[in-house]
Amino acid sequence: MSVDRYEVVIGCEIHCQLLTKTKAFCACENRYGGMPDTRVCPVCLGLPGAMPRVSKGYVELGAVAGLALNCNIARFTKFDRKHYFYPDLAKGYQITQYDIPLCSDGYVDLPFKHLPKEQQPGGEKYRGTNFIGENCNINDTYRRVRVERIHLEEDVGKSLHLEGAHSYIDYNRCGTPLIEIVTKPDMASPEEAALFLQTVQEILRYVGVTKGNLEEGNMRCDANINLTVWEDGKEYHTPISEIKNLNSFRAIRDACTYEIQRQLHQFETDRQEFNAGYKNTMGWDEVKGETVIQRTKNSFVDYRFVVEPDIKPFTVSEECIKTAESKVGELPEAKRVRFKKEYGLTDFDVETLTSSRALALWFEKAALASKDPKKVANWILAELLAVLKEKDETVEDLDITPEHIASLVDFIHDGKISGKQGKEVFSLMLETSKLPAEIIKERGMEQVSDAGAIEAFVEEVIKENPKAVEDFKNGKTNVLGWLTGQVMKKSGGKANPASATALVKEKLSSL
Ligand code: ZN
Ligand code: MN
Repeated sequence: MSVDRYEVVIGCEIHCQLLTKTKAFCACENRYGGMPDTRVCPVCLGLPGAMPRVSKGYVELGAVAGLALNCNIARFTKFDRKHYFYPDLAKGYQITQYDIPLCSDGYVDLPFKHLPKEQQPGGEKYRGTNFIGENCNINDTYRRVRVERIHLEEDVGKSLHLEGAHSYIDYNRCGTPLIEIVTKPDMASPEEAALFLQTVQEILRYVGVTKGNLEEGNMRCDANINLTVWEDGKEYHTPISEIKNLNSFRAIRDACTYEIQRQLHQFETDRQEFNAGYKNTMGWDEVKGETVIQRTKNSFVDYRFVVEPDIKPFTVSEECIKTAESKVGELPEAKRVRFKKEYGLTDFDVETLTSSRALALWFEKAALASKDPKKVANWILAELLAVLKEKDETVEDLDITPEHIASLVDFIHDGKISGKQGKEVFSLMLETSKLPAEIIKERGMEQVSDAGAIEAFVEEVIKENPKAVEDFKNGKTNVLGWLTGQVMKKSGGKANPASATALVKEKLSSL
């Protein structure tokens, strides 16, 4: 017997902390850190008699996330209690949403171009784009991953296991508002899973619902992975592995890659007929580069879901949905497509300029205010971002406005200052926040393009350098550059270099 072929099936569950002012159901500030157990109250600790209340903004932010991932938003929903015991769960139950999630039936489109060549259209491992409705022309550009649901739930506390010492629990995180995003098993490779996580992170940061920082744990990803294997004409399904807490794009890619080989190997050695019905919960050991089985779930775990008795089922108002819609705005991929078309930029430039919503907005303001949007892009990409990177800042920290860059670009575009002077103005602008016009005036930088004025300099230079002129007449055309340099010097660097070169040439030829 031998494996004829296999396909990879991956689904994701992503937990994201939302950027609300308060925790999900109490007035505690929604803020990371602090001394353990200091950011808590009777409600988030679930003390007897404490009553939860849905925080303002929680449902709305959840709806923003849902709309950004193309979901339907429920107009009527509720919270439920999920009971289980775990030391980090002070209450003995978690308030979550069971059968009526706030958001459902969404999708995320992943650009094929970010996947390995063999998985792209025409490639050996191309798996097509399924699930795309009629009148949709994106089949060759994107691979669609369906989002089954997004529900609201509270976070739990944090366990701290110190090796060789006691375990500690910090309850500060209890009651922090989360969304949980659950996908359909639509991903067909580890690279796709990593790209999905990256795309979701970008979108949710864009719309401002989460910090989305995987390393800090305010975005956490679990991957469910198994294989469909065909052997001697028969189809098998390996048991699903749920790999918990993948805290980087690399971790999700590497863990899934490892797990594919492990499952294949297990299938080949055991020769047993695999059937769905049990699931392994795994961890990812980054150092060893291996998945580790934590527990095997043979049976159905009864969470004894009940409708949360302290929070009435509620309607989501049209007003709430309208506000959410207005916060979604143009999403990153749509922006990229539009920037490319409208400003004639390359894929690479567009990727960088849209890497955050703030930068994209800043660029577009500057581009619209200038005569040369492409040059504006170049200045931002080559100069401004380098400065920001050096200072570890973002455009939001800048004292200059998009109009500063637009005006600088126009001064160069109109030939009023040279590119070299432009760099000087740029530095002074960042230093002083003065507008280019003011700097140029103060420093007397305005270029002389007026032919009459330059001509006078040219004549002087020719008179003062008979030897160079003689060389030119004898065919040594390379003195042209040197003579132009003399003209520039005489003008104090203000002559327009192009006009100066042309005039020197003209004068010499007429001698
Ligand atoms: Zn609280
Ligand atoms: Mn959950």
